[in-house]
Amino acid sequence: MANEIQKPDPRALAKLLRIMLGPEEEWDDTAAGLVLELHGINSDEAPARLVKMIEREIRNRERRGEDIPSSFREVLSGLRSEHQVSEGLREPKARMEQMFIVGTVPLDSSSSQVTQMFHRRAKKLSKHDEDILKELSDELISIPRSNRRVHHGARTERLMGGSASLSASPADFAQALVQFLDLQAPFELDNRILLENGLDLRDVPALGFDGALLRRPGEARGIIAVRDTIPERGSRKFTIAHEIGHYVMPGHDVDCSVCRAEDVGVLKTRVAKIEQAANEFAAEFLLPAREVKKILNQRGTSMATCKFISKKFRTSLTAAAVRCVELTDSTAAVIESRKGVRWRFRRSDRWKYFLKTGEPLGSKSLAKYLSPQGEKEKEGRVPVWTWVWTEQTWELYEHSILMPQYDSILTFLTEP
Ligand SMILES: [Zn+2]
Repeated sequence: MANEIQKPDPRALAKLLRIMLGPEEEWDDTAAGLVLELHGINSDEAPARLVKMIEREIRNRERRGEDIPSSFREVLSGLRSEHQVSEGLREPKARMEQMFIVGTVPLDSSSSQVTQMFHRRAKKLSKHDEDILKELSDELISIPRSNRRVHHGARTERLMGGSASLSASPADFAQALVQFLDLQAPFELDNRILLENGLDLRDVPALGFDGALLRRPGEARGIIAVRDTIPERGSRKFTIAHEIGHYVMPGHDVDCSVCRAEDVGVLKTRVAKIEQAANEFAAEFLLPAREVKKILNQRGTSMATCKFISKKFRTSLTAAAVRCVELTDSTAAVIESRKGVRWRFRRSDRWKYFLKTGEPLGSKSLAKYLSPQGEKEKEGRVPVWTWVWTEQTWELYEHSILMPQYDSILTFLTEP
């Protein structure tokens, strides 16, 4: 689509920019990014280059015995934490190569039996679910050993040095896997993609878990089992991505091979660290921050944008809404309500108001008036106090949608 836009006359453009952007100190991120791009500078790459330049300058000054201004280190640490892209991806990329080219996984545990993998969790599972997993694990053990490493002996030696640490973030691992598999979003997580990488996908009649990962110790080989009654394609996809996260990230090989419904999903905040990591992996894998941010800049932060993103990346609306709230620069919050009660929420960095869960829906909220028999979607201005603990009287913009498959309501709140 972008190709259809004609290149403007440079003089007209300069005039337009002067009017639109105003003085430099008033530029926001979009304006600064545009100016850089017009100068042929990719603003996404600029921070990584700046890091390298500052590092070089520090080295030079150290060599000459000169003082290093404290601002150098401050800027550097700020940039590093924000833009770990180039550094952070090195380790995940090496792990992907090791897993998917060499075919081995550095073990973080000494277990030798697949069955031990879910033993700890299995105690909490019903006999029914345990039997499902037992059957799959027996099948996995009986698969003949992979011979992939035979073809890549030379690479094996180079890559076998030491197992990966946990310094890279879950998002780094997601990005590394997308690059390694050469996936273009949106993609479906079908059996073909998984099988090529040693994973088999099974829909199982589980009752007590949403997803499970069974793996052959030390080998890039496993089975992902997904509950066959997950009500929506987008949620099923998120569950599979969550299990892939356990599969590729170091440190996930024992503790979590069985993931309960409470563990999987983007709105889950109070879950074990390892589950949180798998959820972060899945969010970045399916909804890449870079692309979602771009869309938010173009279309603004609204439920309409969430719908657009969920369609484009083929995820659930909830996953898209949570991702928007996580990544937006605006004031926004997403709330899920069940049975007329606010159940859980996620807010953006700029959202400073107090949102309480466990409270009934406010009488002036639009969400309160949605029902399967009546209206299923409503949007408009509402008094702030109907959602937020305050005595102030200004208004919020609410957009609420009934999600019949979950028996819940998804609400997106912004400042009008
Ligand atoms: Zn999990």
